[in-house]
Amino acid sequence: MYNPKSTTATEFISDSEIRSTMEYARENCGNMQLVESVLAKAAQAKGISHREAALLLECNDPTVTERIFKLANEIKHRFYGNRIVMFAPLYLSNYCVNGCVYCPYHAKNKTIHRKKLTQDEIRAEVIALQDMGHKRLALEAGEHPLMNPIEYILESINTIYSIKHKNGAIRRVNVNIAATTVENYRRLRDAGIGTYILFQETYNKDNYEALHPTGPKKDYAWHTEAMDRAMQGGIDDVGIGVLFGLETYRYDFVGLLMHAEHLEATYGVGPHTISVPRLCKADDVDTADFKNAVPDDIFYKIVAITRIAVPYTGMIISTRESAKSRARLLELGVSQISGGSRTSVGGYVNEETPEENSSQFDIADHRSLDEVVGWLLDLGHIPSFCTACYREGRTGDRFMTLLKNGQISNCCLPNALITLKEYIRDYASPATREKAESMIKRLLSDVPNDRVRSRAVEYLSKIDNGERDFRF
Ligand code: SF4
Ligand code: SF4
Repeated sequence: MYNPKSTTATEFISDSEIRSTMEYARENCGNMQLVESVLAKAAQAKGISHREAALLLECNDPTVTERIFKLANEIKHRFYGNRIVMFAPLYLSNYCVNGCVYCPYHAKNKTIHRKKLTQDEIRAEVIALQDMGHKRLALEAGEHPLMNPIEYILESINTIYSIKHKNGAIRRVNVNIAATTVENYRRLRDAGIGTYILFQETYNKDNYEALHPTGPKKDYAWHTEAMDRAMQGGIDDVGIGVLFGLETYRYDFVGLLMHAEHLEATYGVGPHTISVPRLCKADDVDTADFKNAVPDDIFYKIVAITRIAVPYTGMIISTRESAKSRARLLELGVSQISGGSRTSVGGYVNEETPEENSSQFDIADHRSLDEVVGWLLDLGHIPSFCTACYREGRTGDRFMTLLKNGQISNCCLPNALITLKEYIRDYASPATREKAESMIKRLLSDVPNDRVRSRAVEYLSKIDNGERDFRF
């Protein structure tokens, strides 16, 4: 039985509700009066339900698609302006006991080079990331109770926060590790993590079990209820996502939105972020084995309708996507992207030979962080290295309340300009610096509050004089 407030996986992600939603969308997508009423509701920027979102996804009318894209862009600007938050993944270890058939780290893969970073190696990776200009990381590690126990993850987080190299600092560590216990989530919270991220991969239970034949991850309920345990452990910023291409996109799109609705209904706060990765090629993984690849036009529509359905949730896209695809997705609602990423263990310090390949997936966007920042500026976006909310205790429902009533924009824009200024003073190429300086000058006047604006001017000049780490 479908119950969004239940904490049992098969009740808040009810297979029959997903199937009946898909059927409802198929049967009603030609009803333009109904489609118009959903578009009108969406225009209020307060979100739409999984049923309404499925209806829009099913509607093939090109003019409706254009309106969806326009609306997604408007909603993105209303809540996030033209700011794009930057981050980088940091792979700690690719030892894994699970059998996920779509991931090269699966336990049976004998060709991949296995690596686990020591604390000294983590230090070297973090210094390399700080020297690029990164302030926000997403930690990644396979599930391996002996090689990557929770103590190793906690020690690594501690190491990362402790490194202050030149003007560099990692100010927010998000963590993407396997589903774990309430007690371990509590320990992660106490270690000061930002968002706890866990992708569902697919919400279809039968398919999930087939794709995860061995290891603890094969337990669908344990994995699907992970965010509930994280919330019970005191982590109030959680990030969800599916790997599009494993299951039909219709099924997982509805499941993803139902998961967001469940978190909102049960804990009063929806997911902090939604990631939208698409399956891509990797060692020992052939995308031809998967029949549900999502073409670009459908993928863009999925991203746009997700933005409309959950206006308050950050949306993340990785370097799995090409520069061209990322440019389009930024217009449709994506608010966070990675830049200069390495998806191998130790990849920021050492270039790997093909024999040493330890990557989780092949990157489509190989540009450096500086190139990505320069490109964003050319497209009119503000690259932001802001991590202020988490450090000011603005997490969970406190963050969502500020976002929903629009007050967050008094923080986001000045913080974006201040952190961009830090970036260009310490790390940018002359060309990127010039573009950023002119954007900062131009956008300062857009800071709505007079007092905040004059403090931002003061902070910018202090940054020019060598001081760092200001925030609103
Ligand atoms: Fe391990 Fe995660 Fe890869 Fe599965 S997806 S094999 S759990 S690293
Ligand atoms: Fe994100 Fe908060 Fe910074 Fe805005 S002020 S960019 S919401 S961390």
